[in-house]
Amino acid sequence: MIKKSNFIWFNGKMVPWDKANIHVLSHALHYGSSVFEGMRCYQSYKGAVIFRLKDHIQRLINSAKIYRMPISWSRQELIEACKIVIRKNNLIDAYIRPLLFIGDVGIEINPIIQYDTDLVIIAFYWESYLGKDSLNLGIDAMVSSWNRVSANTIPYMAKAGGNYLSSMLISNEAHRHGYHEGIGLNIFGYISEGSGENLFVIKDGIILTPSCSSSVLLGITRDSIIKLAASINLEVRECMLPREYLYIADEVFMVGTAAEITPVRSIDGIKIGSGGVKGPITMKLQELFFGLFTGEVKDEWDWLEEV
Ligand code: PMP
Repeated sequence: MIKKSNFIWFNGKMVPWDKANIHVLSHALHYGSSVFEGMRCYQSYKGAVIFRLKDHIQRLINSAKIYRMPISWSRQELIEACKIVIRKNNLIDAYIRPLLFIGDVGIEINPIIQYDTDLVIIAFYWESYLGKDSLNLGIDAMVSSWNRVSANTIPYMAKAGGNYLSSMLISNEAHRHGYHEGIGLNIFGYISEGSGENLFVIKDGIILTPSCSSSVLLGITRDSIIKLAASINLEVRECMLPREYLYIADEVFMVGTAAEITPVRSIDGIKIGSGGVKGPITMKLQELFFGLFTGEVKDEWDWLEEV
């Protein structure tokens, strides 16, 4: 359940949470034509900071570009608007969801009128996506019977509303079978990603993650983990990973803005590694990630954006 905030940024205005409504004929509702982001604001040694705000806004712009959706706001206005939502709602620990969508422009699939998109930015408190204990206790996952989309069908590099129908199938199947999360394979049977997370596998001290050609969203947390691992000279390889890698891995963890860095303790009922909850490399990477906010880890990439 969402913990409501006071205001939602709606096309440039601060609108009370319960008044931020749209028409039932909205194109996005019928055809999934929205692109969005998910970011987190953390309480840090510098005060409230939005993690990699500029990178998230760039991905939003890229997603809109892929779908040729116009944006009425400049990059700088989008960045500022996210900060305003946090400040106006007196939030510190928060999840931020900018959503750009095609509104009430008619029933045609390809809108026949020249249209502007609508933009909302919603911010609210949200604990870690896979459950508040998951960061320490780990989760049980299953390989989904549903594959992720293939190249040149629905663009998986765009974070678009419609893509999440695939995520819904994967997550729903996992929950129905008593798992916390599902792992999608790509159409060739290689490991892709979770319903809302990228995935890392550790084998013999090397960190492996499905490459861009494995139908993954190029996650910003994924990129952060790759850079943090390199900063302590851990080897990371982006590659195609067959399903069975999951079963023989020493450690597996899932990452995403909402899920943060969540250890996976079993997959399809097979215990990962020695069966402990959190492996040493997963633990180290969690420490590096959360250390950015306490100041114990130097933010050499300028990822913390003060609100
Ligand atoms: N894959 C999918 C399908 C996602 O929805 C997300 C969450 N945005 C991720 C990966 C992780 O991306 P990020 O680290 O940028 O949140």
